[in-house]
Amino acid sequence: RHRYFIAERVNLIQRSKIRELFEKARKIENVISLGIGEPDFDTPDNIKEAAKRALDEGWTHYTPNAGIPELRQAISEYYREMYNLDVPTDNIIVTAGAYEATYLAFETLLERGDEVIIPDPAFVCYAEDAKLAEAGIVRLPLREENGFQPDPDELLELITKRTRMIVINYPNNPTGATMDEETAKAVADIAEDYNLYILSDEPYEHFLYDGAKHYPMLKYAPDNTILANSFSKTFAMTGWRLGFAIAPKDIIRDMIKLHAYVIGNVASFVQVAGIEALRSPKSWEAVEKMREEYAERRKIVLDAIKEMPYISAFEPKGAFYIFANIKETGMTSEEFSEWLLEKAKVVVIPGTAFGKNGEGYVRISYATKKEKLIEAMKRMKKALEEL
Ligand code: PLP
Repeated sequence: RHRYFIAERVNLIQRSKIRELFEKARKIENVISLGIGEPDFDTPDNIKEAAKRALDEGWTHYTPNAGIPELRQAISEYYREMYNLDVPTDNIIVTAGAYEATYLAFETLLERGDEVIIPDPAFVCYAEDAKLAEAGIVRLPLREENGFQPDPDELLELITKRTRMIVINYPNNPTGATMDEETAKAVADIAEDYNLYILSDEPYEHFLYDGAKHYPMLKYAPDNTILANSFSKTFAMTGWRLGFAIAPKDIIRDMIKLHAYVIGNVASFVQVAGIEALRSPKSWEAVEKMREEYAERRKIVLDAIKEMPYISAFEPKGAFYIFANIKETGMTSEEFSEWLLEKAKVVVIPGTAFGKNGEGYVRISYATKKEKLIEAMKRMKKALEEL
């Protein structure tokens, strides 16, 4: 395939199917995309102002590899206030989004022959990170009947002598599911009993609906958990590339080595803006406004789906996704997505983009303006009625 020699582990990385669908959609006029996995909101003003001020104040230099101490302090305070958790600053590294935090966890903790348990369906980056780390991938099926949460018995059955890590992601992309406390405890107990790491990817922790709560894995298995988190979704800051990992300090020390030489640090003024994001009530007011807006949109989509033939929706309590069951249409997920794009000019993501077990589902993102969402639902309903 390549004219040049490319290392096998890089050759194995898949181009995201999501991107391919977007490219196809770009060539069609008047398309509404419900495929996007990022907030459509602008970053709150106080955070933008803080970044501008930081530039003027000379935050234009290299930063410590672990991140600016005051930002790490602000992250630590945040966990204290939000979850009553004690996170020493030595247990924190500032990363280029949750993507980097996840990558560092795989690269630092896994080696060839190790196995990692990745849910199915799951967000796309974990399997690719595992390939880069040359680790074996074992998929843990998530089922609608279980609210797309891991079944502890099934998890136990997948554990072998080689298992080193399990990936957990709640609120979940692509299903929107949240995890209840009982499941969080069960997963934590298993990780402790079998001496496994838990990579817990929690960037949607603030997008919760219908009174749902978030149970951070750090609370239940603090010595086993590597937490990946991000400012991307919470504060609508995807392009800023600001996130962090929390883990036992000995692990962080080694993650810092990779981070320093492989990736490099997040821009200093962006880190300073992160301090403002975490500490200012203004940013938290903006987060709550966004959450309320998502909650309205979520209801629009769920109510609309109830009126459509052939499809049904699992009622998620988190993130900004609906995982709709399309099995009754008789189409595969990919066929459905392509059909909907042609017939209704609406983009949804086939569930199989997130693993084999996503077959029979499509992911609908409601990180889209209300008017567009309503129009997309109308088009979908019409297309399905004509099926
Ligand atoms: N983890 C999950 C579950 C996501 O959905 C995303 C982005 O879509 C990421 C991680 C990456 O986020 P970041 O922008 O923080 O790198």
